[in-house]
Amino acid sequence: MATADVLSELPITPLITEKHSGIPERYAEQCKQSKARLYSNKTLPPSVPRDGELPVLPPDVDRDTFNKAVAELTELLGAENIELNDKPLVDGWYMEHPNTHDAFHIVQQSELVSSATVYPGSTEDVQKIVRWANKYLIPVFPISMGRNLGYGGAAPRVRGSVIIDLGRRMNKVLKIDGNSASCIVEPGVSYFKLYEEVQKTGLPLWIDPPDVGGGSVLGNCIDRGVGYTPYGDHFANHCGMEVVLPSGEVLRTGMGALPGKNGADNPSWQAFQHAYGPSVDGIFSQSNFGIVTKMGMWLMPETGHQSYMITFPRDEDFEQIIEIIRPLALNRILGNIPQLRNVIQELAVTGKPKSFFYPGNDPMPREVIRSHAKNMPCGDVAWCFYGTVYGPEETRNMQLDIIRREFAKVPGSKFMLPDELPADHYIHSRVRVCSGTPELRELDWLNWKPNGAHLFFAPITPTKGADARVVHEIVTRLHKKWGFDSFPTWCVAGREMHYIANIVYDRADDDEKRRAIALMREMVKEAADEGYGEYRTHLIFMDQVARTYGWGDQALMRFNETIKDALDPNGILAPGRAGIWPKRFRGKGYELLPGDEKSTPP
Ligand code: ADP
Repeated sequence: MATADVLSELPITPLITEKHSGIPERYAEQCKQSKARLYSNKTLPPSVPRDGELPVLPPDVDRDTFNKAVAELTELLGAENIELNDKPLVDGWYMEHPNTHDAFHIVQQSELVSSATVYPGSTEDVQKIVRWANKYLIPVFPISMGRNLGYGGAAPRVRGSVIIDLGRRMNKVLKIDGNSASCIVEPGVSYFKLYEEVQKTGLPLWIDPPDVGGGSVLGNCIDRGVGYTPYGDHFANHCGMEVVLPSGEVLRTGMGALPGKNGADNPSWQAFQHAYGPSVDGIFSQSNFGIVTKMGMWLMPETGHQSYMITFPRDEDFEQIIEIIRPLALNRILGNIPQLRNVIQELAVTGKPKSFFYPGNDPMPREVIRSHAKNMPCGDVAWCFYGTVYGPEETRNMQLDIIRREFAKVPGSKFMLPDELPADHYIHSRVRVCSGTPELRELDWLNWKPNGAHLFFAPITPTKGADARVVHEIVTRLHKKWGFDSFPTWCVAGREMHYIANIVYDRADDDEKRRAIALMREMVKEAADEGYGEYRTHLIFMDQVARTYGWGDQALMRFNETIKDALDPNGILAPGRAGIWPKRFRGKGYELLPGDEKSTPP
């Protein structure tokens, strides 16, 4: 169906004034267009009937006990704040995502599902839920917004867990402090919302959005997501947390542990990260040791900025490019974490489907990519480098002179400023993201396939051409073997690079999903054999990835299990998240390891 026809038939996405996960008015038109593009390439019906008795139950809990437990939770929180997952599952789309399952299901849609969703309105409510879960031994799985798409979305790792959707009612920006350039957010604050709130203050401050702006600022940070301004390492720029432990106790980290005068919050809570004693914040990121109910984040003082693109003609240029980046990044001449993207992505970010460029379902041949790139602003090239420099104009110009000079060493490279590129070119969305303005444009990738969904393979390597080559060769070879287009992006810092391979697949195609899983499993294994590990992964690969960090006969895993068992003896909080299983579940067939035929346990 044509985009214009789809547009007239689709319900309008709620505004942020109507729903915490909604879209700010200023993005309403962009959102409408983006949604229409995605729906015009969708063949799946909105939902399909579900089999079996619903809701599915948590492990080892019979229906009577479950019903009794739900009745008690309803008493505690009110009927309006608990919802059974007994209706058809609707994938929706990014801005109207489900909180019942993974909208980008890579296994069957019905597998990674909850039994119910509960909506706490305060830290005290979260404590009540956790104590309730301990009483009935029901696993709970906290989400902030549930837009962790590519890594499992809102789905729990254990089927039948109760989702704690923190964001629906806990969605306030509690403080914006212009003096310390910081804020305190609740879980349901999206990048869109934080941006709006900062704008309202009129303070000259930036937020740091990731590629798409609908995710939770807090959720992304504790999952160690990244953005693209100089504050792009989100976890490194958080300052202070409030956490509910699996026992139901609450603690504050950093300076927040020291009570302020007359019961006030500590005045340095958002000013100093480490405070005194062991630094515990890290154990609440990518873990299942606590539920974070408040978080401090640093905001960046507004500054001048200039983005640019440099193209490089040959596939094999990437090693030299990375060798050039390393000293520039170490010396902070590159102002942010730049991206080196393969030219196939210039095609994908136009939002046009693969079928527009190539009729086959096999990986698009290099010659076909070249023939299209030739007619695009980038030209017939192999790599596009997107960077941004910051500060006053004189400083930026000096940095740009060095950047131009160094990359000119790659024969045939070409430097371009946004003004030299057409108004609809992707670089303009990059300019906004790299200067603190959340965006939706990156979603256009998903149009590559009908019913488009994606998975990330995201290993870390040193910033060295030779290491890049090893991983790139594994990724390229295995994508070919399993029949996928390869979309490599390097996010490059001075000492390490995140290699992000985005596997785009059709949610309606079971064979494609099976191949995507096989591809991921092989890439994780082969990369680990060479000494490279992922920084983050989807729910179903967490066990495999966690075990690749197995130095000293799984010493780190044993340490994590020791903490888990001490903090959560009943194993109620997000069992299996980050590959950490509490003793109640360990070794009982819940782990998903390579070679397992099943995708989720019975
Ligand atoms: P997003 O921030 O992209 O909307 P989520 O809310 O799903 O994504 O958060 C990412 C992941 O981090 C979730 O899958 C969940 O396991 C974990 N998580 C999110 N919020 C919290 C929280 N407040 N406390 C503990 N874990 C959380």
